[in-house]
Amino acid sequence: MAYRTINPYTEEEVASFEQISAEQLDAVISTAHEAFLSWRETPVSEREAVLARAAAALRADKRRYAEILTLEMGKLIGEAEAEVDLSAEILDYYATNSEKLLEPRPLPVADPAEGKVFLSKEPLGVLFAVEPWNFPYYQLARVAAPQLGAGNTIIIKHASNVPQAALAFEKLLLDAGAPRGVYTNVFIPHSLSEHVIADPRVRGVALTGSEGAGQSIAMLAAKYLKKSTLELGGADAFIVLDDANIDKSVEWAVFGRHWNGGQVCVSSKRLIVVDAVYEEFLDKYRKGVAALKTGDPLDPATTLAPLSSGSAGEDIKVLVDEAVANGAKAELVGEPVPEHGFFYQPTILTDISEDNPAFHKEFFGPVTQLYRAKDEADAIRIANDSPFGLGGSVFTEDEERGTRVAKQLDTGMVFINHPTGVKADIPFGGVKLSGYGHELIYLGFDEFLNVKVIDVVDINAPF
Ligand code: NAP
Repeated sequence: MAYRTINPYTEEEVASFEQISAEQLDAVISTAHEAFLSWRETPVSEREAVLARAAAALRADKRRYAEILTLEMGKLIGEAEAEVDLSAEILDYYATNSEKLLEPRPLPVADPAEGKVFLSKEPLGVLFAVEPWNFPYYQLARVAAPQLGAGNTIIIKHASNVPQAALAFEKLLLDAGAPRGVYTNVFIPHSLSEHVIADPRVRGVALTGSEGAGQSIAMLAAKYLKKSTLELGGADAFIVLDDANIDKSVEWAVFGRHWNGGQVCVSSKRLIVVDAVYEEFLDKYRKGVAALKTGDPLDPATTLAPLSSGSAGEDIKVLVDEAVANGAKAELVGEPVPEHGFFYQPTILTDISEDNPAFHKEFFGPVTQLYRAKDEADAIRIANDSPFGLGGSVFTEDEERGTRVAKQLDTGMVFINHPTGVKADIPFGGVKLSGYGHELIYLGFDEFLNVKVIDVVDINAPF
């Protein structure tokens, strides 16, 4: 696939970039490996300083970095600026904590004859990361910041529609002092993934993206016995219980479903509302969605962004048509969206029966799946009847009740009275078809470490 910038608001192609060959890719891997051999020996404080400088540079030039996101994938400028801030916070988190996270850990042992045992945390080597377009910097920061702090080096294949964001992030780290080969962006076709993963110098692979991409990369990781992590799709439940503050729930649902043009793995995609408050919720939600305003994503007054590409809209239309053909009702909400630009009409799907294929699908755009649950137990049942297990939300005035419900949801993250959130100091990860492994805090940091056992036994101890 060609690497091209196509402005989703104007539909114009702005730039395109050449892919590299297998031979050039070999040279990239060699450089990344050479860089690893010295980067792992570089004092952690120096690695942290690179991350800190990158964070400061992002903040200092926030508007310019944000405009690249809006240009390439259509994100609202305010959300783009928030993403730049969040990426800087992640870089800062590892600029502050890498040394601490690498501290050796003494291990208590039952018998003194076992010796003095400790766990030494050591980087693995060159990593390969395949990343999606929906948060072009945040996704890179989430995988690169911990791994560079840990002493690994990384080769990134970013999505083909955000090449300028990919190059901007690479330049950010190089300008911040990362030696050549520590962080390398590559423009490669899917077919060269195997070339990278097969190389013995490449020690791990991380993918964030769709289920299909996850399967391809995980199969290669299995074939070459490489450690892998997968952050895949989601169909987060947003449960509204009978004691919820309906006005606040509606406000968060409209935001949770529509931010980033509805293209978030942890969007509130399935609203599950108990019968007692369903009609009131639907009435207010419909009004909230109708109030969204499409327009130029650079205009701060715009509240609904275009989709990232023309094909994204076509993909959603296929899913909506399939849902309707199987008995769901589709209500188009609000003013008709502009015909020019990759906008998609906000849609509320109701009456989705459990045998409708839509019941188990992820809608990556401004389409709401709305379910009426009999009661709390029924809401939990519907929420868990999903192949995905990324995040989820529970709205209730009663925190204990919310926590009790949260514990019954089969997902990696649950937020009470908030859509699933993304923060530098809260880990991210899912279960079921949403993937495996974690990103962020110590969990993400440890994914690609060799946690080595070192056991010191007294030579004079009895044989
Ligand atoms: P995608 O098509 O899977 O693309 C993601 C990345 O994988 C891109 O760099 C893409 O490259 C690459 N890719 C796709 N197929 C590949 C293959 N067979 N071999 C090697 N690389 C491959 O995902 P998307 O549709 O753009 O993004 C949306 C999906 O990602 C949704 O399902 C969303 O929920 C999920 N997502 C999950 C998280 C999370 O943290 N759990 C975060 C964001 C998004 P090209 O661009 O060159 O095709």
